[in-house]
Amino acid sequence: MPSFDPTTEEKITDVAKASPADADQAVKAASNAFEEGPWRHMHHEGRAKIMFKIADLLDERADEFAVREAMDMGMPYRDFRETIMPACSGLFRFFGGMAMQMHGSYRESYEPEIRIFTRREPLGVVAAITPFNFPLVLSCSKIAPALAAGNTVIHKPASDTPLTALALAQVMLDAGVPEGVYNLLTGPGGSLGDALVKHPLVNKIAFTGSTAVGQSIIRSGADTLKHTTMELGGKSPNIIFADANVDAAVQTAFWAIFWNKGEVCVAGSRLIVERPIYDEVVNKLANMARNAVLGDPLLPQTQIGPIASKNEYDKVLRYVDAGKQSKAKLVAGGNTRKVNGKGLFIEPTVFADATNDMKISREEIFGPVLSVIPFDTEEEAIRIANDTPYGLASGMQTGNVARALRLADRIKAGTVWINTWHRYHPSAPFGGYKLSGYGREQGPEALESYTQYKSVWANLV
Ligand code: NAP
Repeated sequence: MPSFDPTTEEKITDVAKASPADADQAVKAASNAFEEGPWRHMHHEGRAKIMFKIADLLDERADEFAVREAMDMGMPYRDFRETIMPACSGLFRFFGGMAMQMHGSYRESYEPEIRIFTRREPLGVVAAITPFNFPLVLSCSKIAPALAAGNTVIHKPASDTPLTALALAQVMLDAGVPEGVYNLLTGPGGSLGDALVKHPLVNKIAFTGSTAVGQSIIRSGADTLKHTTMELGGKSPNIIFADANVDAAVQTAFWAIFWNKGEVCVAGSRLIVERPIYDEVVNKLANMARNAVLGDPLLPQTQIGPIASKNEYDKVLRYVDAGKQSKAKLVAGGNTRKVNGKGLFIEPTVFADATNDMKISREEIFGPVLSVIPFDTEEEAIRIANDTPYGLASGMQTGNVARALRLADRIKAGTVWINTWHRYHPSAPFGGYKLSGYGREQGPEALESYTQYKSVWANLV
């Protein structure tokens, strides 16, 4: 399958197009490695050491990963190096540490001669199916806890952005991950992904992607009762109150939506602004959007790269058209751009005076398009924020601590950011409410979802 550079619109390389028969072979290799190999029986510290080695190699090869992600996905090299790469190696360090905490517990029974203890055991073969955006970190967030718990893994990256997965596979080999424990297959979701989801020897699907594909995976996996974690779409609300530091709030709101050109599941795509500062916020945002530097993601001055693929580019432009045809007011962007005559660039686009029932406010656009919606009361802001089928992330900008904590309780989303956005840490659970999914990545909660408990009863008489 060809992989394209969205900056030059030229082919970078071809990658293998694995078939369902290849999936079967890989699953059998992973299952065999799980049943017969050393990984699940290795002392926890042994697994941890290999995971720390993976982390070190990721850091050593950070430049290579950043170049691959910039060329394949269009993410600015600098952003990747500063924020994503430390998160990738951090995930392997965090879960390497967690591997050493894979302990069970002791329970009291009714009879003194009966002793009960629990063991935490791995699930078996985990298929990690990952999306085109943030390909590396969203792969690490599945592979690291899966390996820490003693599972074996098949990784299927998105067809549009497979190039960092290939480099990650090399890291696995070089770090000494035993044969069959990590398996990489590139190929189409509809055939290869589906074969993994239905395979009886796959015990868990760890999925990040669109809600529609997540729903179809749950249905297809039902016959073989797959464990699943679902990290799905979002339409995240960001509320700015009049008591906020307006300049800081505008900066936060701008990058909440336009970081990685809006191809971010937690993008703050609905900006809900209190009426007294509404005009000021809209003007300042529009100004920032007009001055943003679009360009080659490999260049240090670039703030916004190209949309990752032609499919996504066309989809985003259809939403831009829907916004133009609505009663919302286009105050910035709304056009495509070429850099040196090439590239899938879309200007950061701001629609003001939007309402929450418009198509652009309800559906996930997954691109650099913002709806700005005014509000008058705190109750109204909460109602608008929660009036969405999604519940991935949310946030508010305010100088009032009591209000912030009040809203943090009432907003229905897996993440709440107060006076900030896009903060992550390997120790903090991440995941969605409602149609944004279930299960959590990161934190001890993630390790939990890659293990199962066994109760052992011993009669001492
Ligand atoms: P997608 O189209 O749902 O694809 C995700 C993955 O699923 C890809 O590897 C895809 O393979 C594969 N796939 C497609 N059809 C499949 C099937 N029938 N069976 C098994 N696998 C299948 O999502 P995307 O466009 O790559 O990513 C964007 C979406 O992901 C957005 O909705 C975004 O919000 C969401 N996302 C969520 C999070 C989160 O943490 N909640 C994070 C990032 C992104 P192909 O590429 O070969 O089609």
